[in-house]
Amino acid sequence: MDPMPGRCFLCGASLPQEAMQAHLMECRPNQGGQTPLFLLFVQDAYFPKTYWLFLEVAQQTPLSALDDFLRRLWVDCCGHYSQFVIDGETYGRRPKASIVDLVLDEYTHLLPMDKPLQALLQVGQQVDYAYDDAWFTELRIHVLAAYDGPQPEGDVRLLARNYKPPRTCRQCDREATWLFTNAWPLEPYCSEHAKQHPAWGQPDAFLPYINSPRVGVCSYRGPQAQELLFEVYPPPEDE
Ligand SMILES: [Zn+2]
Ligand SMILES: [Zn+2]
Ligand SMILES: [Zn+2]
Repeated sequence: MDPMPGRCFLCGASLPQEAMQAHLMECRPNQGGQTPLFLLFVQDAYFPKTYWLFLEVAQQTPLSALDDFLRRLWVDCCGHYSQFVIDGETYGRRPKASIVDLVLDEYTHLLPMDKPLQALLQVGQQVDYAYDDAWFTELRIHVLAAYDGPQPEGDVRLLARNYKPPRTCRQCDREATWLFTNAWPLEPYCSEHAKQHPAWGQPDAFLPYINSPRVGVCSYRGPQAQELLFEVYPPPEDE
């Protein structure tokens, strides 16, 4: 997968991933705001230069709020298990836990996500995140900085994210809008060729091509909230 530049949502600038942190430190409003914040950089574990986010998170918010945000924006397909590994401890969450799950979780010392971030994170730390315990989506979270600023709405503020990686239909020159999931690697199709495919109409044989590390996995169809979709291709280089 190609490295993807991204957009700063504070000013609209397009920048390569490597330049974004320095840009955000200049671009973020430093007047006003007394809320202690962490600046987090989140990357897909396998395509770290393709799928990435910069977030500001209130330090007092519980770990579960960060989990909620990552689920809503990027990974949640059907309410699977998720976990953070921080300093060798595993903090997990099972929205649909059975009695057996709960007993096993206690046996394996799975910790709840109720602690505030400030009790768990420090600048320079790396945290591993996984969503789903069968068809994993794995992320790495880097704690880049700590500073005071305006309170983010819902405790998490999205500062920047990657543009959508352009993909072409395997049968023509049009943009891919679907992935055929009964093949590996997943096969990209435009709408027209997807609908001509013999498997079109079979459950989850085709999933929408979404700008997310969860793309094409399980039954992932993107965020439920339309405002969290970011299906924008990178602008031309000379712009
Ligand atoms: Zn900016
Ligand atoms: Zn699922
Ligand atoms: Zn096509």
